[in-house]
Amino acid sequence: MSAKLVIKNIGLLLSGKIEEPIFDGDCLIAVDGKIEQWGYEKDLDTEGATTTIDAHGVTLAPGLIDSHIHPVVGDYTPRQQQLHWIDSTLHGGVTTLISAGEVHMPGRPKDVVGLKAMAIAAQRWYENFRPSGMKVHAGAPVIEHGMVEEDFKDLADAGVKLLGEVGLGTVKDGKTASQMVEWARKYGIQSTIHTGGPSIPGSGLIDADMVLETGTDVVGHINGGHSALPDDQIVCLCENCKAALEIVHNGNERAALLTLNTARELNKLDQLILGTDGPAGSGVQPLGILRMIAMLSSLGNVSAETAICFGTGNTSRRRDLDTGLIEKGYCADFVLMDQAQHAPGKNILESIQLGNLPGVGMTIIDGIVRSERSRNTPPANKLPELV
Ligand SMILES: [Zn+2]
Repeated sequence: MSAKLVIKNIGLLLSGKIEEPIFDGDCLIAVDGKIEQWGYEKDLDTEGATTTIDAHGVTLAPGLIDSHIHPVVGDYTPRQQQLHWIDSTLHGGVTTLISAGEVHMPGRPKDVVGLKAMAIAAQRWYENFRPSGMKVHAGAPVIEHGMVEEDFKDLADAGVKLLGEVGLGTVKDGKTASQMVEWARKYGIQSTIHTGGPSIPGSGLIDADMVLETGTDVVGHINGGHSALPDDQIVCLCENCKAALEIVHNGNERAALLTLNTARELNKLDQLILGTDGPAGSGVQPLGILRMIAMLSSLGNVSAETAICFGTGNTSRRRDLDTGLIEKGYCADFVLMDQAQHAPGKNILESIQLGNLPGVGMTIIDGIVRSERSRNTPPANKLPELV
């Protein structure tokens, strides 16, 4: 027997699609963890549900995606000695995390054999163990001098699909980095780069010239992590890059707004994606993606439903994921949320546009309820109910 999830009485259906962020409908059906159909309940076949959720009028959106995290192992980060940071992040409406390198592993190997072994192991340990159901795409090696084309082939053959941030290792020149990024791409491995000044003692500056010469798929933290590049270099990257422009919580907020405003002028809002860059020196940010959405929407003059696409569908498309969009066959990964109690605004979207966080009422991953009322967001007006 297949698992049939029916979510009814949805008040607002957000698609994750920047070209059409709001869908009509009050009901969504998923079968065996994949989205099957959505629309008005009266038009859909809701018979035979194995799980029914009464949304009680709250908003359903694709589960949020954090494009930039630094996991280590399980639900523990040695960076700030914290347990259960991934579970806390699930309570912030995030259902997918993407590693930009497992760089906080104490004693991280930097020799070629060692870094390959750790990347493969990290990919496996998060594939085999999902903390609280969270999807963690990990196993993102940081390139070092001495790597040859065969190493990228070996990594890809072993299941590695991501590079960690270029620039966090010994490779800090565009010529070497672009060659390695090209090898990675040849074998289907996505790449990202550290943009801006050094994050912590030991890391270095990556300027716009190096980002452009390296040609990664993602311009990692274009707003710095923490120190942003000078404004003219950020504008230059927005103008010249076809890559994803990633804005992070751990970066410079003024530079984030500069990126948003420049991308809007260039008609490139579809290139914007969001990350936290946590855990890091600024700690763990369970509400980081929601906070970015509220910040960009309230100060950057974009609608809340558009800002939510930065943290869902845009990232899905740029990262080639099967989550983050309301699309037939995509994973049934959702966040159900509502306007927070006593937050101003006539509805959830206006409330976010005024800079307020929504209250998360439930998260669903692969069609399975993973968390109910968030312990971390402000309480929502209305809560969905598992019936
Ligand atoms: Zn970085």
